[in-house]
Amino acid sequence: MAFIEIESETGIKVPDSPTIGYIEGDGIGPDISRVAIKVLNSAVEMAYHGNKSVEWKKVIAGDEAYEKTGKHLPQESLDMLKKCVISIKGPLTTPIGEGFRSLNVTLRQYFDLYANVRPVRYFPGVPSPVKNPELVNMVIFRENTEDLYAGIEWRYNSDEAKMIRWYLNEKFQVKIPDDAGIGIKPISKFKSTRLVRKAIQYAIQNHRKSVTLVHKGNIMKYTEGAFKEWGYEVAREEFKDYTVTEEEYSNSPGTSSWKIVIKDRITDNMFQQVLTRTQDYDIIATTNLNGDYLSDAIAAQVGGLGIAPGGNIGDVYAIFEAVHGTAPKYAGMDIANPTSLILSGAMMLRHIGWVEASDIIEEAVGECYREQKVTQDMARVMNVKALKCSEFGDEVVKRMRKSSS
Ligand code: NAD
Repeated sequence: MAFIEIESETGIKVPDSPTIGYIEGDGIGPDISRVAIKVLNSAVEMAYHGNKSVEWKKVIAGDEAYEKTGKHLPQESLDMLKKCVISIKGPLTTPIGEGFRSLNVTLRQYFDLYANVRPVRYFPGVPSPVKNPELVNMVIFRENTEDLYAGIEWRYNSDEAKMIRWYLNEKFQVKIPDDAGIGIKPISKFKSTRLVRKAIQYAIQNHRKSVTLVHKGNIMKYTEGAFKEWGYEVAREEFKDYTVTEEEYSNSPGTSSWKIVIKDRITDNMFQQVLTRTQDYDIIATTNLNGDYLSDAIAAQVGGLGIAPGGNIGDVYAIFEAVHGTAPKYAGMDIANPTSLILSGAMMLRHIGWVEASDIIEEAVGECYREQKVTQDMARVMNVKALKCSEFGDEVVKRMRKSSS
């Protein structure tokens, strides 16, 4: 086995045949994982003619792990994911009951996967609720580890809530109703800065046009507003040669050298901007809660979550995943749509620098949608015959072309 090596605090070295971890996932997970791995292997083979390949290492988590070990996420699985550095996962059931945290949240925190990255673009042929879905080509960088998601909150009648209400009243003369629950929204300089840094680095590497900082800083000045200020600061201090602010850009239009425009929008405005001025937005960097709402809304513009890929990315570790859940009613029936996981795999290949294989997959998937070769979730809206999950994978493989890279 050749594992991906960690070279520095932020760098990895990928061998020609890296061991990549995969979690099949629960529900439809095994169906879509099988298909996604087949598609990824075919694309890598086509792109590199055997000079590169992936050695897949199965890692257990979720229901399968619970049946085998009594734990949903055993330590051995975490250790293997750590060894692999880069992994891909199908959806996992969130166990219900007090004391259970989402396995996804656990993984993000354990590996400090601070950026939730969601590329959203349109595949012609996919049913969409808007007139010009082809204008959508955005990548959302959502902060993954703080904000109201930090889970710091207390029930209205808890001792902690009483104590905090008392303290705020006593020390700051801030009156909070006696029946109010309390939640805390931490937004730190360190975590905001590293998220925006990653978004700008991505924009540079992929030759993109702009990075928009989305925030609600007009109301929450020292959390959301600070996110915006720190975002501009990191652009100014670390990427001066590559970036201009929107104001600088409009003062000197037509500058010949390519630079990334850094701009900011208030969240509510951004929700209408992505509909009314879609083409003006490219890379988006935002806080956790804004990103949660915004990424689903933008995905809806291009036909929904069913086909949207995603990755949770830290400085070195990364886990790519289907954005949807386990769809238990389709489990084991070979009818689920594997597109989200296939495209997440393509995103993973791009992340490790295997751009040619990634391009091959994206273009072949696009061709399937153009030709209405789709699974039942899409087929019933398009009024065409549905393919099985595995048949869709075969159709993608059939359409792979080397020249597309
Ligand atoms: P879901 O995404 O599983 O299902 C929502 C709807 O979309 C259902 O009608 C489902 O049948 C359909 N659907 C989803 N993926 C599909 C696919 N690939 N092909 C065809 N149809 C598809 O969401 P849910 O019902 O809210 O959640 C079910 C379980 O999944 C829960 O335990 C939840 O915690 C978990 N979940 C996991 C993740 C993850 O692992 N990243 C994400 C979301 C939900």
